[in-house]
Amino acid sequence: MISLGIESTAHTFGVGIVNDRCEILSNEKNTFKPELGRGFTPTELADHHYVVCKKVLDDALSEADIKMGDVDVISFSRGMGIPNALKVGAALARYLAVKYKKHLVGVNHGTAHIEIGKIKTGSVDPVIVYLSGGNSQILAYVDGVYRVFGETMDIPIGNAFDVLVREMKLPMPGGPEIERLAKNGTYVDLPYVVKGMDVSFTGIMTAAIERFKNDHKEEDVAYSMQEVCFSMLTEVTERALAHTGKKEVLLVGGVAANKRLQDMMKIMCNERNAKLYVVPQEYASDNGANIAWVGILDYKSKGKSLDILESKVDSKWRTDDVEIHWSEARVE
Ligand code: AMP
Ligand code: MG
Repeated sequence: MISLGIESTAHTFGVGIVNDRCEILSNEKNTFKPELGRGFTPTELADHHYVVCKKVLDDALSEADIKMGDVDVISFSRGMGIPNALKVGAALARYLAVKYKKHLVGVNHGTAHIEIGKIKTGSVDPVIVYLSGGNSQILAYVDGVYRVFGETMDIPIGNAFDVLVREMKLPMPGGPEIERLAKNGTYVDLPYVVKGMDVSFTGIMTAAIERFKNDHKEEDVAYSMQEVCFSMLTEVTERALAHTGKKEVLLVGGVAANKRLQDMMKIMCNERNAKLYVVPQEYASDNGANIAWVGILDYKSKGKSLDILESKVDSKWRTDDVEIHWSEARVE
């Protein structure tokens, strides 16, 4: 079975082609790049995705060396995400499904980050740390859903890094710049905000911007931002491990690439006899293969397509709203 997955929740328009052994036949993408010092508006994202979508699709098919006739399932990110951006991928998916008479699957974006992480690392039943430009959640599988044990109460961590780096007039994405600068930094005081199992990043981000404007070195601000944010997340993840009794931690989402985050989580896992898994870099940030893989899981376990009339995007579709009906079939 072959699934073609379309990703368009935010900055990236991607098309990935995957078979039912999760071999990635191709994974093409084009990411919107704002000018220095700027972010993006929803309309700019949609315009970008409309312009690049045909080339990304054609490149994915030719890289996989297949034709639309060889595809069984068309999968697309149905949410959560930025509505204008989501609609571009959804429109293309519906068009392809109708024109070529294919099965349509609407995929939850957060679930796709988790499932690709599990299959590509071999992690079976982890506490999941999902950190990206649009989400920050600590989850674990309980009774048929990926339940959220802790999450950000305001902005996602990747967004906090990106805004800070924009203020420094450095290029996007912000996370790798923070990681690079932090290597030569020392600590300046920043607030540490954990409330129960939840975290907050806006206050820390505002304080970090203020420190930077008050002539603290970029390196020191970046180092402190990393230390504080990652310590908060490691604290909450440790409590989720203790509460659930699970023995694995899986890092997914764009921020999972960060070596300092990985080191902190590794120390905590070693102390608790748990094992740390990190999603491979090529599947950490948004891409079509993640979506295509959940399309296969969903279609194989349900055996039916999403009705076009129910394929409207849902920009607020939470990870813990998805029934993981394929899990029992796959997890030994
Ligand atoms: P995603 O939303 O999953 O595509 O991930 C993109 C986010 O990951 C952006 O906010 C980036 O700044 C962040 N990111 C990427 N690489 C790193 C890194 N090495 N350290 C921290 N954050 C990162
Ligand atoms: Mg994402």
